[in-house]
Amino acid sequence: MLDFDEGVLELQSLLEKADPRVLERGQQIFQKADFQEATQTKGRYRALLRGSAPYPYRTFIDLNQGIWGCTCLYDWGPVCKHVVALAFAILEAPEIFRKARTKTKKPPVLQGLLELSDDDLMELLWKLQEERPELLLEFAYSLVQREE
Ligand SMILES: [Zn+2]
Repeated sequence: MLDFDEGVLELQSLLEKADPRVLERGQQIFQKADFQEATQTKGRYRALLRGSAPYPYRTFIDLNQGIWGCTCLYDWGPVCKHVVALAFAILEAPEIFRKARTKTKKPPVLQGLLELSDDDLMELLWKLQEERPELLLEFAYSLVQREE
């Protein structure tokens, strides 16, 4: 367990916001402990959580800013089961979170992308499709999710 600092109090109020069924599902997810790439930096905890979708959900809780989020489609309440699972992990298994490397600045290559013409961008996507198809699939999948 963590010490009872501000962070823990924040987490408890977060858990109180969750629907009881969501709370229960979140606890089950936490117990299965399928956390991938769990990291924390300065009170910001992130993890990838495997769910029913073909790609893991990206979930985070920022204790300093008091915000949280997830890429799943749950919108029936303020807190989804993945965020609940992450909150349990922070409370009960903080050792799974490794320290994230300090954030590097946005690489210049991203800035370069913004300046490409549509044709050049398409060509780049084709190339990506050949070399890293799984990356492009994940990208496309998250676009489709957003539109639904
Ligand atoms: Zn979620």
